[in-house]
Amino acid sequence: MKLPNYLKCLEVKDLLIKMGVQNIPELSHVTFVRKVTKTTTIEIENPKLTFNKKIYLESVPVSQTNVSIGKDGTIEVNGIKACAYIKKQRQGIDMYNKTSTYRYHLCNCKTIEQMINGGRKDRYVSTTRDDGLFEVIDQIGGSARKLELRLELCHNCKKILEHKRMLPNPYSLKSFFNKYQPEIPKTIKRTESVLVEEQYAPNHNEIAVLFKEQVGYKCQLCGVNCSTTKQCIHLHHKDGNGQNNLAHNLNVLCTDCHSKQYNHSQMLANLNFKRQIDTIIGLRSEQKIHTVG
Ligand SMILES: [Zn+2]
Ligand SMILES: [Zn+2]
Ligand SMILES: [Zn+2]
Repeated sequence: MKLPNYLKCLEVKDLLIKMGVQNIPELSHVTFVRKVTKTTTIEIENPKLTFNKKIYLESVPVSQTNVSIGKDGTIEVNGIKACAYIKKQRQGIDMYNKTSTYRYHLCNCKTIEQMINGGRKDRYVSTTRDDGLFEVIDQIGGSARKLELRLELCHNCKKILEHKRMLPNPYSLKSFFNKYQPEIPKTIKRTESVLVEEQYAPNHNEIAVLFKEQVGYKCQLCGVNCSTTKQCIHLHHKDGNGQNNLAHNLNVLCTDCHSKQYNHSQMLANLNFKRQIDTIIGLRSEQKIHTVG
């Protein structure tokens, strides 16, 4: 003979609970996390440094830069002081002394003014190399040889600098740049939007939905599955305090089991709950959850 499983019997369960033998399992603790966009300020390497390094190590065509004349009348490319000169040279190269009659410029002298206004930028290159040597391409005789030649400062530029009392004494390119090159910060600050996870205090509805989902909309006491009639499953606060949403105070119960909890008999006066209880009785028989009675 097959004996009924008394542990599945609701009346037995009810009795055990009243005797304090069987407790409804507590819902596990849940932290509520959501993704929020926050702006943070981060420090990054100043992108200008990359260009500054390049223009220090090699000559950069003026046409590829943002060339301007600074407030003090000197040449600036991409915001820093630089000299400009013609790289492809045809005559005036003295191979023996490694010099040339071509000059480099630092100011908006007539030649540079003409270069900027006359659209002849593409003949010029710029550099912040400061040892007095300049990369030159010797184009004499059709062949193109790369050379490093010592060039002198243009006479007009020199006069302008003298007049402005900006010509270091003794003069060298290094001392000029040391004195007049603006300080470039190594890093810059940039604000970025980042997606971060944040814990939050949920409202009651969010908590109720989450805990009901956690048990699959099944009553923790009788086991009836209410996933098709979600209004028939409630979040019960054991201590009767609806604000106390700590996991150990919460249970998910069907309307019928809920109404049988301590101090809940007033639920039976509610027509809506009574209809829900009828629905649950129907669901239990569909789901083969039987009471002894
Ligand atoms: Zn000049
Ligand atoms: Zn139930
Ligand atoms: Zn309750």
